[in-house]
Amino acid sequence: MKYNISLLLLILLSLILISCSKEMPDRIFYNGKIYSLDDKNSVYEAVTVKNGLIYDLGTSEKILKKYPDVEKINLKGAIVFPGFVDAHGHITGYGENLLQIDLVGTVSQEQIAELVKQKAQQLKEGEWILGVGWDQNDWEDKSWPDHKILDKAAPKNPVALTRIDGHALWVNKKALELAGITKNTPNPEGGEIKKDKMGNPTGLLIDNAMNLIYKVIPPPTEEDLINTILVSTRNLVKYGITSAHDMGVNERTIKIYKKLGDDGLLPLRVHIYVDGIGETWNKYLKEGKLVGYANNFVNVDGIKLFVDGAMGSRGALMTEPYQDDPNNFGLLLLSEEDIYKVAKDALSKGLQVATHAIGDSGNFLVLNAYERAFKELNPKDHRFRIEHVQVINPKDAKRLADLKVIPSMQPVHATSDMYWAEARLGPERVKWSYALRMVINESKIIAGGSDFPVENPSVLEGIYAAVTRRDKNGHPKNADDVLQLVKEKKWVLSKDGIKEPKNFEGGWYTDQKLTIDEAIKCFTKWAAYSVFEENKKGTIEIGKWADFTVLDKDLYKISPDEILKTQVVMTVVNGKIVYQK
Ligand SMILES: [Zn+2]
Repeated sequence: MKYNISLLLLILLSLILISCSKEMPDRIFYNGKIYSLDDKNSVYEAVTVKNGLIYDLGTSEKILKKYPDVEKINLKGAIVFPGFVDAHGHITGYGENLLQIDLVGTVSQEQIAELVKQKAQQLKEGEWILGVGWDQNDWEDKSWPDHKILDKAAPKNPVALTRIDGHALWVNKKALELAGITKNTPNPEGGEIKKDKMGNPTGLLIDNAMNLIYKVIPPPTEEDLINTILVSTRNLVKYGITSAHDMGVNERTIKIYKKLGDDGLLPLRVHIYVDGIGETWNKYLKEGKLVGYANNFVNVDGIKLFVDGAMGSRGALMTEPYQDDPNNFGLLLLSEEDIYKVAKDALSKGLQVATHAIGDSGNFLVLNAYERAFKELNPKDHRFRIEHVQVINPKDAKRLADLKVIPSMQPVHATSDMYWAEARLGPERVKWSYALRMVINESKIIAGGSDFPVENPSVLEGIYAAVTRRDKNGHPKNADDVLQLVKEKKWVLSKDGIKEPKNFEGGWYTDQKLTIDEAIKCFTKWAAYSVFEENKKGTIEIGKWADFTVLDKDLYKISPDEILKTQVVMTVVNGKIVYQK
């Protein structure tokens, strides 16, 4: 009897061995140029995947011969990178924008009214019509619009159209009525209700007055939220994004991510930082991190905090006042003490803190808070982050590196904000603002992002901005180009004017450029590191997750200007093609 069992085991073992030796991958991608970004900078032609993991790598010839009867995908010479990661974005916000009427580039009120009318025909009576992106500077008649033309276009639906900068809302009469805005409604603090000569509201609301309308727009249903997330993520993979770090998310939305993950409906991996101190944060403080949920598609890594506001609205907290607003130091949104307390809680639970800090004082305070918590709890590997790191004193850039805090930066912000940043900051501070080179020299790492939907979620545009310090239109070419833009009222200089023309030669403060290799790593292996996943993704190596971004041009070989002409031809997540051009 004993012998029989051993014999049985022996047979079983050999069967297992035989089946192992015959084991085949699910899929082969061949005839490509595959940049692994591993420590040896290995380049391959073919990669095979199995169960969502990278199974084998080699030349096309070797791989095709080794696995004859497997699904084969011919990359036709395309360039493969480890899957792009966007380390800072807002998935539902991006989806909401996509679902609204896109008004960017519209040339008249009439054109917009026509779009609103078309939308009204698709909706039920009383449903809100939302749009975003109008700019009266693009119209022949550049005066503020009023509600009348929208009343005609959609008499039975409330309409709310956000200006391109997010600081004005154009609504119809129906919306004014629902919000109870009348002649007698006073301007809220920090906002303005535009009124005509008779004192009646015109349908244009500025800054905080917009909240009067937002308050009465019904919150999204669960179905709306699902739709928003699906629309958003399905668009993100078109940019080659295979993982996104979602900043400021509540438990309701996390539950939907989990459900979508369970159903296999998420096309990319999501890393969530919850929306500040509150219920959701308390839940994760109790339960700890959510790691690798739904086959590694849904994770809750930590908390997103704000220490200050933004530069555009002079909300970034500065050590010295704004040059163009000499009594204004910006806004403190959360005290150093509060950040320190959250940091301690997070460290004790192995959660991450990711704090938005734009101004130099904001960055200083966050580092103080983190440092104090680190000293007390002495964590081995905290991977705390600062989001944006936009204006940071060189001394603090050094401290950031010493504390091993991860700088999470968005290279496109530099080329979007350069049109007015120097007017806010003056010619000295600007030198250590949007300072990718200074930060990377200290930290040796930057987690790259776009802050979509504030910016386009294009990783390629981020890489281009990082290596050129020019915007999509090629500005600035040089100091003369800037002076021309000043004349056209597009560029606002510091009141000191142009002191050193070299700062505009070939780009904006080109001494802060990254190399192409660094820029690619920001959006791959370094972004992976920022969520403790450097051993699972970020390079193309056997055993790692099969996430790839496939491009039609070789970023290492082309001129920087060609980066913007490069297209994502395929996005692969977990071994499956989730986007193909
Ligand atoms: Zn953001």
